[in-house]
Amino acid sequence: MPNETTTLYPSNWLYNAAVVGLLDVQENAREEVEESLFTDGSYHLSTDYFDVLKVGTQELSKAIVCLTNRLVSDSELEEWLHDRQENGVGQKQKRKTKKEAKPKQDKLSKYQKFKEELGEFGYRFIRAGNKLFASKTPYQNLVQLSEWQSYEFPKLVQQIPTLITSSGEQKCDLCRDNPIVVTNQQSKLQTRLIRLQSTHLKGLGPSLGEFPNGFWNMNQSLKICHLCSFLLIHHHLAFTRTSDGSEIFINAPSFRVMYELNKLARELHRSGSTEEQISRRNIIAMSVIEYALRTKTNLGVWTGMNLEVVTRRGSHVEFFNLPYQVINLISSRQIAAMLSEIGEFSVLNLILNEEYSKLIEVGYRFLRESISDRRSAYINEWLYLDRNRKNLSETANKVLKLYALIEQRRRNVYAN
Ligand SMILES: [Zn+2]
Repeated sequence: MPNETTTLYPSNWLYNAAVVGLLDVQENAREEVEESLFTDGSYHLSTDYFDVLKVGTQELSKAIVCLTNRLVSDSELEEWLHDRQENGVGQKQKRKTKKEAKPKQDKLSKYQKFKEELGEFGYRFIRAGNKLFASKTPYQNLVQLSEWQSYEFPKLVQQIPTLITSSGEQKCDLCRDNPIVVTNQQSKLQTRLIRLQSTHLKGLGPSLGEFPNGFWNMNQSLKICHLCSFLLIHHHLAFTRTSDGSEIFINAPSFRVMYELNKLARELHRSGSTEEQISRRNIIAMSVIEYALRTKTNLGVWTGMNLEVVTRRGSHVEFFNLPYQVINLISSRQIAAMLSEIGEFSVLNLILNEEYSKLIEVGYRFLRESISDRRSAYINEWLYLDRNRKNLSETANKVLKLYALIEQRRRNVYAN
């Protein structure tokens, strides 16, 4: 089969998160991701991704193998195999008397069949199915465990390239491109998958009403294609867990930008200073700044972009935007470089609050105080980094220079 691709365009945040989740899986599998991300914001998904791989005595779609490997790390697999307490059953058994308690079957022997069929990958495969579709998981009951373990679902995934290119009157309500196809009317799995419903999105619960574009409210029984249905079970992977227990996803009108920004957000979070709680707007701003510094492409395309942070806390979803003017400023490489060099949240927050003139006030105060050897409470309040406090006049000059760059940029924007 020739190497064909399906072009995906950014849409609402849920679909976008699903695609970015898939990109994360592909990156984990060392697939070439960047080559498939285009400057027009689209992503070209190769049909190769659904090719069949020989695993043990079975055949599995590469898409399933990659997803399984991303979901279950070596260490996690080890822990799961040797932990007898699954889904709290062990806890319950503990409470019973010794006499009543039935020893739980060892997972190694319980899933022996899969080791025989899939080799070492067998246990990982089982664990991945449980992580996706068992109780208390992101897509509980979307696919029955029996449909996963009998390979019914993996086999359907294998057919996605054929399914989305077959003819069908009704189009998918999510991508609005592919047809809705059920090849076997008897298949409960197929009919369940094409109905967009709460099992696709269990974590969202009551927030479904806030689904973007309002289309969720229009129709409770939206139909989606098999590709979208498969993509959706990746959406939780696009979110970064923050220190306050919520999860964030940066949404943008370009898959390339989303891929990069979310990766940066994850890195920033990982290296995040514990001294200072990084707020959502700081994470998005810092990701944009990093992106502006790292990317060599023309940033002009950025300026009209709408970036938002989608935050999930339990089943509650919130949206947060940075104003367009602010994105325009911090995506300028010079301004980004200066902000990064200063490295103080207090200064970044002035920009995010659009209190630009305060930079002059602060800069001159730093200059005045630089003459003295003692550092006042004002300085300690504004500057966190030792290097900035020690070289106060230099810091003052950077802040004033930052102000000049901002004013210049704003003038240019208004002049256009
Ligand atoms: Zn679709």
